[in-house]
Amino acid sequence: SPPAIHHAPAPAPVPAGSTDREQVGKEKASFVMLIRNQELEDALKSMKQIEDRFNRKYKYPWTFLNDVPFTEEFIRETTKRASGKTEYGLIPKEHWSLPDAIDEPKMRAAMKKLEEDKVIYGGSLSYRHMCRFNSGFFWRQELLEKYSWYWRVEPGIGFYCDVEYDPFEFLRVSGKKYGFTITLPEYKSTIPTLWEETLKFMKTNPQYLNSNSSLQYLLEDKDQGKGLDANPEYNGCHFWSNFEIASLDLWRSEAYRKYFDHLDQAGGFFYERWGDAPVHSIAAALFLGTQEVHHFADMGYMHVPWSRCPQPKEFHKYGQCVCPFELKDSFDLSGWSCQPRWWKIAGKEYGS
Ligand code: GDP
Ligand code: MN
Repeated sequence: SPPAIHHAPAPAPVPAGSTDREQVGKEKASFVMLIRNQELEDALKSMKQIEDRFNRKYKYPWTFLNDVPFTEEFIRETTKRASGKTEYGLIPKEHWSLPDAIDEPKMRAAMKKLEEDKVIYGGSLSYRHMCRFNSGFFWRQELLEKYSWYWRVEPGIGFYCDVEYDPFEFLRVSGKKYGFTITLPEYKSTIPTLWEETLKFMKTNPQYLNSNSSLQYLLEDKDQGKGLDANPEYNGCHFWSNFEIASLDLWRSEAYRKYFDHLDQAGGFFYERWGDAPVHSIAAALFLGTQEVHHFADMGYMHVPWSRCPQPKEFHKYGQCVCPFELKDSFDLSGWSCQPRWWKIAGKEYGS
């Protein structure tokens, strides 16, 4: 007779995939994933980690957005993987198409040039729609109207530490509006006139500059201490927007709507290749007070090609982190990181 094999006792029912999807967390919040059907595997990888590390205890809903209808398979598999409710939104055409004012031959020529220069996604039109959508339209989707907060998740990320508290609640209670994990400079060739247009906008709308803004965080070393009137230069630093936990009201605000409209009319989402990361970041840095922007120093995160984990002091205290790289390779300390600039303006330092 075959040897007796000991089986683990049947586990208690797990919330993931169960039918009890009632939200436990108390905030009006959702995960948001803009994604293509063919990225299902990577979506599930991201979800698994976020669910295991955080959401199985809170059961916040997931909102999936797509410019084409989701397949039945995508809906079935992501619903199985979620502990909370799931909703699937089809993006309206007018949020994902060329505005009438865009001169198409001019755009095509610019795309060709960036492609020849080997600028990443330089020749891609869909990437441009994606960046414009994430800048000006994701927060206008009907499915998100009921929420105050969102956590942006991308396919294929790594999420390495337990989150033992509700980050949405944390932001609300501490009066913060925007949270990030990684900050780095943008490729200048994708945003030749973004800053120029920003300066124009701020000069006609100076009332939107927060009196406690993070302007200096955005400025080149040679321009430190200068104000907007001195036409200082942008250093390219931005919060990496593939991860965001933030307030939807930040984007719904008059200041941001007008800023987006100004940028959209300038055409740089198409004639150049403006990313939603520098657009969000410049807005957050100028319209919010520094204290309203939060670095989630306790979160371990990876999006190709960079990763970071909590710094030594926190590392052993919280989160049961499993970081698949050496701490010295954590992005915060890389020469390419803007984190030291953020520490400086936020009055923090490595290890705090
Ligand atoms: P990267 O992070 O800058 O390399 O760009 P990604 O390819 O990851 O795109 C950013 C996000 O937008 C990801 O969540 C993608 O799944 C999503 N995305 C990019 N292009 C499209 C698209 O054409 N359609 C849809 N539905 N999602 C897209
Ligand atoms: Mn990505």
